[in-house]
Amino acid sequence: MRLIGFSIQRWFEHAYGLTTIPYRLMHGVAQTFRDSRFVFHANAKARRFLLVHFRKNYVQDQLLVRGGDCRQCGVCCNLLFTCPTLTKQGRCLVYNTCRPKACKVFPIDQRDIDEVTLNGGHCGYRFEAENSSITGRTGRA
Ligand code: SF4
Ligand code: SF4
Repeated sequence: MRLIGFSIQRWFEHAYGLTTIPYRLMHGVAQTFRDSRFVFHANAKARRFLLVHFRKNYVQDQLLVRGGDCRQCGVCCNLLFTCPTLTKQGRCLVYNTCRPKACKVFPIDQRDIDEVTLNGGHCGYRFEAENSSITGRTGRA
């Protein structure tokens, strides 16, 4: 009788172990997705694209509270991938012609600066306080 009870317990433990496999797999995939730099940078690029096209007021307000200057380090041209219009000398081939809006207003907020920092760079711009209201600073456009 004791042997049967032990076998049933083992069977339940085994069955329970099987049910946790899909959970562990899903958890692993979710964690990989969450920690992925590719996903992070892709998400940030999509965010900037949406901001410059659909939240223009927010972008304008952010430019007014942005301080500092561009150091021409080019780190923001190497987020997610190296921009194909960036020369080996670090020049933007489309700077005066068809530079994307998202490039013209980079960084839009502290998140963008943090992204540059994550890539080992040091952006020359800064935001005194995230979501601070307009204080009269002029930004790069
Ligand atoms: S278009 Fe010019 S500014 Fe924009 S990422 Fe490419 S090289 Fe940099
Ligand atoms: S990361 Fe900042 S300082 Fe460097 S090129 Fe881009 S905007 Fe300029």
